Amino acid sequence: MPKTIIISNRLPIKVQRTEDGLAYETSEGGLATGLGSIYKQDDNIWIGWPGTFFSDEAEQQQVAKDLAEQSMRPVFLTESEIRDFYEGFSNETLWPTFHYFSQYSVYDDTFWEAYQQVNRKFCKAVMEHAEPGDTIWVHDYQLLLLPALLRSEMLESTIGFFQHIPFPSYEIFRLLPWREQILQGMLGADLIGFHTYDDARHFLSSVSRIVGFNTSQGLIDNGHRSIMVDAFPMGIDEEKYATLAASEETKAKKQEYQEALQDQQIILSIDRLDYSKGIPQRLQAYELFLKENPEFHGKVTLFMLVVPSRDQVERYRQLKETIDELVGRINSSYRTITWNPIQYFYRSFPIEELSALYSMAHVALVTPMRDGMNLVCKEYIASKLDQKGVLVLSEMAGASRELADAVLINPNDMGQLVQALRQALTMPEEEQTTRMKNMQDTVRRYNIHHWVEIFMNRLDYIKLKQMSMA
Ligand code: UDP
Repeated sequence: MPKTIIISNRLPIKVQRTEDGLAYETSEGGLATGLGSIYKQDDNIWIGWPGTFFSDEAEQQQVAKDLAEQSMRPVFLTESEIRDFYEGFSNETLWPTFHYFSQYSVYDDTFWEAYQQVNRKFCKAVMEHAEPGDTIWVHDYQLLLLPALLRSEMLESTIGFFQHIPFPSYEIFRLLPWREQILQGMLGADLIGFHTYDDARHFLSSVSRIVGFNTSQGLIDNGHRSIMVDAFPMGIDEEKYATLAASEETKAKKQEYQEALQDQQIILSIDRLDYSKGIPQRLQAYELFLKENPEFHGKVTLFMLVVPSRDQVERYRQLKETIDELVGRINSSYRTITWNPIQYFYRSFPIEELSALYSMAHVALVTPMRDGMNLVCKEYIASKLDQKGVLVLSEMAGASRELADAVLINPNDMGQLVQALRQALTMPEEEQTTRMKNMQDTVRRYNIHHWVEIFMNRLDYIKLKQMSMA
């Protein structure tokens, strides 16, 4: 029976060595949940890196055996592969370029070599399991070359590709020295998905200008096959966040926090440490807000959670320092004996605590300079059981295309951000509810399960269309 193979850089599990042997911690992320309905069924599998280096052959065999019981197949990567392919090409070349920070991009042939080599390694791993008739779904920017590598091995196979980060405008994308090889790599797929129509449009424009293929109405003709390009805005596991918000544990935590903060209005900000998230700009806007609105002193608190990420990379270390300094400056200028304008945390939080913070926050301040989707804002909406609260959202986040009832802002417009904060903190409850209800309908309807279903249906559809055109 044909099966489905999911492939991503990381498996939805972390394998760790402990004193008692190997330990396996499954991911609770939205993607893992959504794709769980696929890879755990029948003979389907998920292929990816298990998150830890294993060079010992016996240990590799043990890991492979344990993971096989959970429908997973590991691709073992070496330290130098992770350094050059993952931290290097993926995160220092593709990530900045695709997020419109091309001034941060490193163009290094060693990184590119490693990127090609690891994509070939993934191809080999897939070929050990793939059979004719299987459906293959490749995920994200670490594996842009994989669709074409797989296609050259299996001409007739059904291959979908989804990119979880933005696809930049042609003028940015063309700066990459390897732009044509990257597009050719992606074009091995039958269906190429992005979060927004703008990403899809930018991709089509790059294909037509750089590769020279005809593109029309979301279809690319490469001379052999028709390749479909479309937008599939990813959703969250809405039910999980709504259920969690209603749980006794969340309610108890929420009460504990509220007592500690008394009558403060809470502004919540949650991000991974990344320059694409606009954290320093957000802090500067909050500082300006405090300066211009003294009546709010002692009455609002910015709860700022920054989750450590990529902090071995120099640029991320610098960003952390900038944030530390700004928080220190703002708190030292405005704090009183009984009030701290910013509660700043540099660590990750368990989901139960996130749920309590989401459900108690009066305002969620989500202001990335650029974000493929941004799931934090959707989690906030799903957690608002009383339908009170305001989302201030950057136009540069993919989610802004779906959430028109947020207070939308341009993160570079400091004045607008300050105004939006005021508007959010003084919004009448009736208006909050109207907006929140509309956004909840969207988040509920277009949840992660819906996303998986429509992507897979569209993949079947384009395959049938190709056959009818042949
Ligand atoms: N998150 C987390 N631990 C934390 C704070 C956040 O696991 O302490 C999660 C959050 O719930 C969300 C994800 O991290 O699901 C961030 O996703 P988003 O799309 O907003 O940004 P990304 O980090 O993927 O760029």
